[in-house]
Amino acid sequence: MSKGFATRAVHDGYDCQSQGGGAASVPIYQSAAFDMVTADRGDALAAGEIQGFSYSRLANPTVKVLEDRLASLEGGKGAVAMASGMAAVSSALMCAAEGSGRLISPVDLYGTSVDTMKTFFPNFGIETDFVDDINDLEAVESLIQDNTRAIFAESVANPSTAIADIPGLADLAHRHGLALIIDNTVPTPYLLKPIDFGADIVVHSTTKGISGHGNALGGVIVDAGRFDWGNGRFPQMSQPELIISDERHGSMVSFLDAFGKMAFLHRVHTKYLHTFGAVMSPFTAYLQLTGLETLAQRVATEVKTATTLARHLLTIPQVERVNYSGIPEGRHQGDADQQDRLASTLLPKGVGTILSFRVQGGYEQVKRIVDSVRLMSYMPNIGDCRTLIVDPARITHREVPEPYRLSAGVGDDLIRISVGLENPDDLIADLDQAFAAAYQGAL
Ligand SMILES: *Cc1c(COP(=O)(O)O)cnc(C)c1O
Repeated sequence: MSKGFATRAVHDGYDCQSQGGGAASVPIYQSAAFDMVTADRGDALAAGEIQGFSYSRLANPTVKVLEDRLASLEGGKGAVAMASGMAAVSSALMCAAEGSGRLISPVDLYGTSVDTMKTFFPNFGIETDFVDDINDLEAVESLIQDNTRAIFAESVANPSTAIADIPGLADLAHRHGLALIIDNTVPTPYLLKPIDFGADIVVHSTTKGISGHGNALGGVIVDAGRFDWGNGRFPQMSQPELIISDERHGSMVSFLDAFGKMAFLHRVHTKYLHTFGAVMSPFTAYLQLTGLETLAQRVATEVKTATTLARHLLTIPQVERVNYSGIPEGRHQGDADQQDRLASTLLPKGVGTILSFRVQGGYEQVKRIVDSVRLMSYMPNIGDCRTLIVDPARITHREVPEPYRLSAGVGDDLIRISVGLENPDDLIADLDQAFAAAYQGAL
């Protein structure tokens, strides 16, 4: 039987005797290259016939432990770590849609992800059809074309905390031969495992809750290992590739021939990681493994505090609206019943550690509030053990065109909080004094 989540967060992917010379914490293999020992072994390593390490852009022992541990925690068959969340998001989307493919995505997403699909991917021949509400399955279905490859969504959107209907989207995607790619950064695998509900590929910014200490950038792509990449929609998976073939013996194979259901992850690793080179450093992997050890405990505490703060915000007269799907009043206004059902079926332990709220008085008051907080830090990050506050319209979603931003609920009057590990009473006191300072004499 598979062990519990907290146990796997501490142990999986690492045997201290065979992998670390007995060291309790995973050693940092700070080395560009590794001894290949003999010519025959070097040849087998280069051909991918045996697992091992030769050069750290291809694989590194410290990074490998993080990959194996995250694959275990997400319930996937394998994972590839990258230098940042955006490296993971961009590589996963390109790997699915490369060669004139299309994507379907909501606008309710991390700002840089929207910008990537909207303004940059078209230069590479990849188009995205945006939909206002990703849970409107009829609208999503109507956008599917012959060259559509994948549906992309955030499981819990940043900063609205709207919950994606992963089972509904998976069913729709699979009926049409599309892959479902989910950004699971906000809830982390402690609160939600999209693969359990039908997702094919999961991506993360491991900079956030997985790391938990705001001290290193990273990303990961996890593959469920069950999608049929040979269904006719993904020609890139069936084209012969020299890098995985044996030219001397005249045999040319495709990623699909060589890896079957694991073709996607191998293609990301062999093409995107090796060519664009956005590898995670061993030191980052070490820091993120250390953070990961306390993921369950941190997130459980932060969810409780986020719920307390969301309820407190509802009592502040100058707060117009609270977005936190963890409480009924904070759920996305679209289809309230559906959000209730998704919260209880997909996220019974809580929806995450960020929340956002709209205040009276617009941007002038937003500025005063972020300038008045003393305990909360004014920073563009989430999932840190310190509580962070930010004005998304000017900072994290700045590059998103205004109509998209407004449709995602990111107006000038919005403030986002990423809840950390401080005592809830201290955070409430800080918010109260910031509101008092901001609205003194103003209303
Ligand atoms: C932060 C974030 C990203 C990008 O991650 P980086 O590590 O900053 O590159 C992608 N998606 C979501 C939901 C995020 O919060």
